[in-house]
Amino acid sequence: MTDIFAFNRRQMLVGAGFMGLSALYPARLLATPRFSLYPFTLGVASGDPWPDSVVLWTRLAPEPLAEHGGMEMVAVPVQWEIAEDAAFTKAVQKGEALARPELGHSVHVEVQGLKPAREYFYRFFIANGDATPVARTRTAPAHNSRPDRLRVALAGCQHYEAGYFTAYRHLSNEDLDCVYMYGDYIYEGAGGRGGGSESGGSRQIVRNHVGGEIYSLDDYRRRYAQYHLDADLQAAHHALPFICAFDDHEVDNDWADLHEENGAPAQLFAMRRAMALQAWYENLPVRQAQIPMEGRVQMYRRLDFGNLVRMHVTDNRSHRDQQLCDARKKTPCRTADTEAASVFGARQEAWLGEGLVNPMRWNMMAQQAMVMPYDLRKEGASEPWSSSDDWMGYPGARKRYKAMITDRKLTNVVIACGNSHRHIAAHIPSDDADWTSKPVAVEFMSSSISSSGDSDTNWRSDATLRLNPHQMIHEMRRGYTIHDIRQDRWTTTMKAMDHVGRPGGNVRELAKFVVLPHEARINRA
Ligand code: FE
Repeated sequence: MTDIFAFNRRQMLVGAGFMGLSALYPARLLATPRFSLYPFTLGVASGDPWPDSVVLWTRLAPEPLAEHGGMEMVAVPVQWEIAEDAAFTKAVQKGEALARPELGHSVHVEVQGLKPAREYFYRFFIANGDATPVARTRTAPAHNSRPDRLRVALAGCQHYEAGYFTAYRHLSNEDLDCVYMYGDYIYEGAGGRGGGSESGGSRQIVRNHVGGEIYSLDDYRRRYAQYHLDADLQAAHHALPFICAFDDHEVDNDWADLHEENGAPAQLFAMRRAMALQAWYENLPVRQAQIPMEGRVQMYRRLDFGNLVRMHVTDNRSHRDQQLCDARKKTPCRTADTEAASVFGARQEAWLGEGLVNPMRWNMMAQQAMVMPYDLRKEGASEPWSSSDDWMGYPGARKRYKAMITDRKLTNVVIACGNSHRHIAAHIPSDDADWTSKPVAVEFMSSSISSSGDSDTNWRSDATLRLNPHQMIHEMRRGYTIHDIRQDRWTTTMKAMDHVGRPGGNVRELAKFVVLPHEARINRA
């Protein structure tokens, strides 16, 4: 394919500077940009590590919350450099990329020819000018290798208004290879609303979104800029490569394919979604394969880490049938509980089935919505309660998911999800009517970085665990999980924050679980 980011130096004209003469040049490119304000306010990031390649990202925004991030609408060449050491004495590669106005002046460099399972350091700079901090990344192990271990953190659901991102500061200091960011990187709600239950916020508002609910491309870009300004989030990006998915709030609460939660016309929602997904691409360290085409992103993809683990990054939103009507969701919604209703869509289901045929020690299903059945009724209530936005609303799809695993006689499937703002470890029972039946797979739900704030920390899990015998833990604390994946065992550690409502929160280990590859069962460590 054509590399749309490559450009010919001879196309460049000699510009006089950022402010002034650039408009005279028909090539709309600044050869020697100069900024009166620091342009790298949003930091840097790396992502999607392969054995020989990683994505390096930055975005120019000298005035991050102003129109166009304070940028003139011209392309700007940005230099990048990658080395084996933080002092750049062992330089490996360098090059130049264009920050284009079409992509919100973001830069995505897919560095090739790197060594597997290596730590690298990178930075961006403008010719004769400003430079980014030095950041760290790491490539995946070689395809034919037998790695001893891989340590992956799960993080997501980071409502800006509901809490500080202190958990990311702690995560940045963990001994890890990469982060799977399952989604809800931004929230779409208006400033000062705190979200409420509708968009994953809380009554607690610790800081405000700028602007109203986001609809236009510029709105989404500005919202990402506001989030990227967070120093704790930047610290995590600067320390570790991220593998990024999206969930609902990157676009709109509870969206499903072309169904908008309040029933906006599909044609209108398609336009909004296209803009949201463009901004998602622009603002995260993902590959060219994830550039939106005709308003859609090919989000589902696989990442292999030697023979140790295959990470199946799934898309639980783009191909989903509409949510089933229930007590919470009355309209618009799907009235018939048909077996065919799908979360992945037929093509992704087939892709997943093919990808599960492999010699890997582990299969990690990196997804968003939780698959397990559950009953979250309040104490004393006579009726079961669940959300139609996760797999409870798609029992036929769950049945097919389980068959995909049992047909292949797999015992090594670990589902890693987020989106419900709580830590859960649970078995996926073979029989949906008997939750103590033999498990088909295990599932770890990772709690939120900040969404729901500190509002539910007094929540008692005992009653929930009695109703849900397949769950080992169910805790409403903010935090993240760490998956230490080895040849002979998978260890999941749940980390919980004491508070996110003010800066300086501490993190502690909440629980630790072990899974062995020959049996789909969670053991206490
Ligand atoms: Fe969320």
